[in-house]
Amino acid sequence: MAAGFGAKVVVIEEFRVGGTCVIRGCVPKKLYVYASRFSDLFDVAGSFGWQVDARFDWPTLVANKETEITRLEAAYVSALEAPGVDIIRDRAVVTGANSIKLIKSGQELEAEHILIATGGHPRVPDIPGAELGITSNEAFDLAALPHSILIEGGGYIAVEFATIFAGLGVNTTIIYRGDCLLRGFDMDMRRGLESGLQNRGIKLIYQTTIRSLERQGDDVSVAFSDGVTAPFGAVMFATGRVANVEGLGLETAGVEINDAGNITVDVYSQTTCPSIYAVGDVTGRAALTPVAIREGWYFAETVYNDNPLAVDHSMIPTAVFAEPELGVIGLTEQEAATHGDVDIYVSRFRPMMNTLSTRTDRMILKLITEPNGGKVLGCHILGPGAAEMIQLVAIPLSVQATKADFDRAMALHPSAAEEPGYIQVTKLLLPERHQGLAPIVPWQVGQGLLSPCQMDRGKRFGRTA
Ligand code: NDP
Repeated sequence: MAAGFGAKVVVIEEFRVGGTCVIRGCVPKKLYVYASRFSDLFDVAGSFGWQVDARFDWPTLVANKETEITRLEAAYVSALEAPGVDIIRDRAVVTGANSIKLIKSGQELEAEHILIATGGHPRVPDIPGAELGITSNEAFDLAALPHSILIEGGGYIAVEFATIFAGLGVNTTIIYRGDCLLRGFDMDMRRGLESGLQNRGIKLIYQTTIRSLERQGDDVSVAFSDGVTAPFGAVMFATGRVANVEGLGLETAGVEINDAGNITVDVYSQTTCPSIYAVGDVTGRAALTPVAIREGWYFAETVYNDNPLAVDHSMIPTAVFAEPELGVIGLTEQEAATHGDVDIYVSRFRPMMNTLSTRTDRMILKLITEPNGGKVLGCHILGPGAAEMIQLVAIPLSVQATKADFDRAMALHPSAAEEPGYIQVTKLLLPERHQGLAPIVPWQVGQGLLSPCQMDRGKRFGRTA
């Protein structure tokens, strides 16, 4: 985009072009989620009269994933080269407000502006034997599927990879230091997801951590914080991510790193060094690809198109590609209740796909609104198609649609997505419960400001450890 606005642009990349999302994140993850979901389909296939004799071949999936990632990487390179961007395969270190040095070639470059978009890497707990564990970086390319896996963490990556491994037939256990997965998400969704994972055979160990790992033949022996020891085929850490700020020379230019280890930026992504900007996971705002893309786009608009734009981080749709799938936007019931009087609409029902089978999974749809059919402040969906639905729900919410607007839309039947138009108030949070609480703060859509509610909610987007 900057090149499109006429800037002379050089991208310096030490690995493959595409970043975490394309190379070892969202894209391969979603492909593996698709692979893992066949087991659910095979499970219900019998109820529709199908007889399926299926076998899974891991190397085929890994190889096909690699082909697709390579294709995408080439597409990204072409998209950079088309407007005239130069790509240098090296590692850069900042040497001043307007200069960098390339590590391999030793070359020095000067630029009017420097944009840091170095992303992050998995955090591995500092415990004896930690090197015997894997992270999401290695999980995609294992030589073979383990017979069992223990995944530590209770966030997006733990839950998504547990879904993948369990769906592919691996005996899967999640160990989490808290008492319910996905801290920061709506409690109904967390409980619904928990039982959905358990229905698929995933074991959950709460309020426990891994104390140490030791090699035991082909397995890894795990010592837990409660004194128990058990062997697993593999151990994976999904214990959060850390911004890639080490060794970048940022201190030489006065670029401030905040207490959480991320680069401090203002609403225009400008760092404490005026010529240096930063976008994406390295800033710790919302570690999500579309947010990083938007931050980069607005950086280019601001700096090279004389059009200052600040990203609005207040209404970000997000999905956890687990099984069941979770899609959310806006306030949770717990957050809304601390800001004022709200109405809660909840609907639980069996997805139609399961009605011929004995499966007991329930889909959950939940709306949080201002009282009496007012503005929709949050929408939470657990079940098939949740991510696709929530992306479209983001559109009416971005123009401050009300529950009455949702009700007015003609339903499409039979679908799960028609449900929000039908559900009646389930819970009225009574005014007396809110005495002394601040009123609901309206969304500051389009102003590029975090609302107080959003600030409280940093955890959902990995902003706080
Ligand atoms: P999260 O921050 O979501 O989860 C980290 C988990 O690890 C939390 O449950 C945390 O516990 C736990 N944890 C942290 N430190 C320790 C420790 N020392 N010992 C034990 N447990 C620990 O991080 P993820 O790595 O799962 O994902 C990183 C970010 O990447 C996400 O926040 C999200 O923004 C993004 N992402 C988005 C995806 C999507 O859009 N579908 C998919 C994957 C990642 P506690 O809850 O107690 O803090």
